[in-house]
Amino acid sequence: MAFKGTLVIDTEKCKGCSVCITGCPNGVIALAKKVNSKGYNYLEMVKPDDCIGCANCAVICPDGVIEVYRAKV
Ligand code: SF4
Ligand code: SF4
Repeated sequence: MAFKGTLVIDTEKCKGCSVCITGCPNGVIALAKKVNSKGYNYLEMVKPDDCIGCANCAVICPDGVIEVYRAKV
């Protein structure tokens, strides 16, 4: 069974540490060129169609920035 995922990213809470990016198996996420109000490059989805909703990124993030929603496709 295949799954499609999407993320809700609290960009203001993101510190731009990149730890979550290394945990994504599909290269879905990357740091934005823009910064949040604290001056950190924040996380964004660069290949949203490739997200499988595995939630690795959300588990790895030390700051609870990422919520994952997963649907069967
Ligand atoms: S849920 Fe999984 S596939 Fe989707 S961005 Fe996070 S680590 Fe990558
Ligand atoms: S979402 Fe979390 S783990 Fe990913 S860059 Fe932001 S603070 Fe770091």
